[in-house]
Amino acid sequence: MTRLLEGKPIADKIREGLKTDIAGLRIKPLLASLVVGNDPATQSYIKSQIKAAQELGIEYQLHKLASNSTQADILGLLKQLNNDKSVHGIIIQDPLPKHLNYKEAVNFIDPKKDVEGVHPDNLGRIILGEPKIIPCTAYAVMEMILQAQVDLCGKEIVIVGHSQIVGKPLALLLVDKLATVTICHIGTSKAGRLQEHIKRADILIVAVGSPNLIKGEWIKEGGIVIDVGINCVGDRIVGDVEFEGAKARAGYITPVPGGVGPLTVVMLMRNLVEAVKIQ
Ligand code: NAD
Repeated sequence: MTRLLEGKPIADKIREGLKTDIAGLRIKPLLASLVVGNDPATQSYIKSQIKAAQELGIEYQLHKLASNSTQADILGLLKQLNNDKSVHGIIIQDPLPKHLNYKEAVNFIDPKKDVEGVHPDNLGRIILGEPKIIPCTAYAVMEMILQAQVDLCGKEIVIVGHSQIVGKPLALLLVDKLATVTICHIGTSKAGRLQEHIKRADILIVAVGSPNLIKGEWIKEGGIVIDVGINCVGDRIVGDVEFEGAKARAGYITPVPGGVGPLTVVMLMRNLVEAVKIQ
């Protein structure tokens, strides 16, 4: 029987643990969030971050900059936040308007305050097998896998999508658990070889942003399917995997919505608590 890997109960459990952790800190953690312009998707992420922060007694400080702000404005604000001892975590809401350089801005954040785990220092630590702050989505997927209670040693894991925040860090984290990891991407699809890789996946993780890219019949019987994709199709939100077809074959599968999504914001808050401890 296929089991649903739902994010909410896992998120609730982690949230309870975080409440205890936060009560044990002598300060109230403060998360500074920098947003430039009015991207609608970003506004909805900010809402869910504010809600998660409120539930945990975390102070959320929103810094709104006008869409015609300059790179110097952003770096100036980041410098101020880096130097402010009352600020424990900094996030830059992505995407920034096109005239601004997100990468340069991220590199400017104090790595100890980089609660999204996207600064080169934090990403580099993953290669060294000494992660401190892990990108929130990759961290959420690791937590999902933990919940499925599988021994990762020697398992065939196929990741579709090689972004810096999901596929690449995940691959390294999973290799360190002695799994055999394959990363597929647009090149794999262009070569017509996506299906052959997916068919042998004991664990399949998909983070592409293409509705129903992965066909149900490609899923290995009894495999674990973790769908990170979020796609708006009409008035529905769907993942990258054909859910019903995949559910008929998988041992475990994440729903979309309701799978990885609810966990990601909680992992952001876990990273903030970790950052307070590091500081
Ligand atoms: P990205 O846009 O940076 O990268 C997309 C990846 O997909 C690339 O590796 C690209 O090569 C690959 N790709 C594109 N078309 C492909 C195809 N036809 N076949 C195979 N591979 C293909 O990705 P991202 O920022 O990691 O986001 C991926 C998806 O995950 C999006 O839908 C995004 O909304 C979602 N996401 C969800 C969460 C969450 O909390 N659930 C968090 C972050 C991102």
